[in-house]
Amino acid sequence: MQNAKLKKRVLSGIQPTGKLHLGNLIGAIENWVKLQDKYECFFFIADLHALTSTYDDPKNLKDDIQGVAIDLLASGIDPKKCVLFKQSDLMEHAELHLLFSMVTPVPWLERVPTYKSKIEELKGKDLGTYGFLGYPVLQAADILIYKADFVPVGQDQLPHIELTREIARRFNNFYGNIFPEPKDLLTQFPTLPGLDGRKMSKSYNNTIAISDPPDVIKKKVSTMITDPARIKKEDKGHPEVCSVYDFYKVFGKDLTDVVASECKEAKRGCVACKKQLAQVLIDYMAPIHKKRAQLTEDRGQIDKILQDGAAKAKKIAAKSLLEAKKAMGLI
Ligand code: SF4
Repeated sequence: MQNAKLKKRVLSGIQPTGKLHLGNLIGAIENWVKLQDKYECFFFIADLHALTSTYDDPKNLKDDIQGVAIDLLASGIDPKKCVLFKQSDLMEHAELHLLFSMVTPVPWLERVPTYKSKIEELKGKDLGTYGFLGYPVLQAADILIYKADFVPVGQDQLPHIELTREIARRFNNFYGNIFPEPKDLLTQFPTLPGLDGRKMSKSYNNTIAISDPPDVIKKKVSTMITDPARIKKEDKGHPEVCSVYDFYKVFGKDLTDVVASECKEAKRGCVACKKQLAQVLIDYMAPIHKKRAQLTEDRGQIDKILQDGAAKAKKIAAKSLLEAKKAMGLI
């Protein structure tokens, strides 16, 4: 992290709720890989956030944390260029969250759009908890404790950043100017449909995982939803409504013209089209899978990277927390 002081600071986290998937790869992770060259980046595995929705069944959490770390590193996150750490290794996040919870009005949390939509998405889970409602307060603590300049977000996350700014303003208003307001780094993430045509999401169980080996990729791609109006190969297709074609647009850009024209003219069957896509994905993932295999063999190396990251992050987090505690009259 050379010239870190000259660079603006970016903060972003990812939840270890199950395995990361191709939607995460092309949405968040590939963006992080670019950001680490341009900014002073703090990336964290948001295990405390994961508990807000998996608190009733955390048996896989430890493995998922390791899996996410391996996926990130295999996909190009470089601990020499950024600080990578696990959220719960820094109690400062939790402590600042508690301090912020003193000043955050409950209606601010209830009106966050993702609060209701997430409850809807995770129907069947009891999310009527204090921790789930307070999720954005923890997020504000994650961001403000590093006094981050920018937070990379998609459109749906903008209200969370606005809430973070509101919490910073309210805190500063009471106790003095401690926390700068972060800006959003709005990114147009390509969205990837899942195997069933809905948004790719762990909650819908419709993902292709970064760690899925080639035979699993082939099997999953073979089940993907295509143009529903195309019953036989002789029927002319509509690639614009086909999930398989959406994947070509992201992973096989040079093939999109030929796939579209052959589909429209009924010169290409869906089975062959899916087989070709599976191979495109296998080739795309090959270098990531190779690195994954190396990292998986040396788990101690992963722990060390996360511990080193936590030590670097702590230097800044502890300082900010101290400032906040002093300002609030605790010390
Ligand atoms: S040929 Fe390919 S793009 Fe066309 S409907 Fe079938 S799977 Fe989709």
